[in-house]
Amino acid sequence: MKSAWLLVMGLAAAALSTSARAQDLDYNTIEIKTDQLAPNLYMLSGSAGLDPSHEDAAGGRIGVLVGPDGILMVDAQYAQLTDKVVAAIRRISAAPIRFLVNTHIHRDHTAGNANFARMGAVIFAREELREGMLGAAPLTNGNPAPAGDPARLPVVTYGMGPPVTIHLDGETVDLIPVRAAHTGGDTMIRFEHANAVMIGDFYRNYGYPFIDIANGGSLKGMLEALDATMKIADADTKLVPGHGTLINRTDLIPYRDMIVAIQGSVQQLIAQGKSLPDVLAAKVTAPFDAKVPGGLLPAGAGTSADRFVTEVYQQLKGGGQ
Ligand SMILES: [Zn+2]
Repeated sequence: MKSAWLLVMGLAAAALSTSARAQDLDYNTIEIKTDQLAPNLYMLSGSAGLDPSHEDAAGGRIGVLVGPDGILMVDAQYAQLTDKVVAAIRRISAAPIRFLVNTHIHRDHTAGNANFARMGAVIFAREELREGMLGAAPLTNGNPAPAGDPARLPVVTYGMGPPVTIHLDGETVDLIPVRAAHTGGDTMIRFEHANAVMIGDFYRNYGYPFIDIANGGSLKGMLEALDATMKIADADTKLVPGHGTLINRTDLIPYRDMIVAIQGSVQQLIAQGKSLPDVLAAKVTAPFDAKVPGGLLPAGAGTSADRFVTEVYQQLKGGGQ
């Protein structure tokens, strides 16, 4: 009993320290940078070096499709940045913000949802994402899920069927469901004419991959998502991760190979009967550490390398689902 209680206390202390860290984020100093991806498609990113969870750019990246029919946004950033995001959008277009699509549930992508819904945006997302928002708030990146404002919830939801297609501003936008990868409710958003895909967080080039198992993510799904992305992308397709730099199809190959290699190393150690601490001590990411910026920086309880290896270990021990 006593040890269980100590564990609960320890978890509560860990939750407090991570939420305190999230509050340390000074939203006032964050600026929103705008980059044009195509004639009518833009991406908005937060300042670098201010968000301890995302050193490369504060919060999650936003996509903005503009044109005479109105605006479609991908993801909604931290709620505290909504005014700055709206100001950045208004420098591009005065049209109404009609649609908002969430790539996944994490608060750096959804916490602003309610603000944009109140401006009239209709929110689209996976059923799993909506259910996740309605359920008990799991810790994501050590932070609680967005608070309970009903306006934050997706209005139009979809499952793992064919893509949902939105025809807007002369563009064809496909909301492509991804089987449990970074989370259990991931969506890729493809802009067919712009030849760009906002892929969310199942790929990242700052820190090691993050499989949010508590929110339904899976190792197998992450590999499948990379394969699915390779199928829809050609050599010129701009692939836009939720964080980090823009990539193209060829960048996915070494990333996938790295995941498969680490998976193989962890599997081998499990076969030798090694425990999780043993597997972490074996530093199986060492061959990749020099090539993964931020890979050895803190993420959750340890480094992002430790977090990823722990996730791979848990997935392989649990049958890889
Ligand atoms: Zn995420």
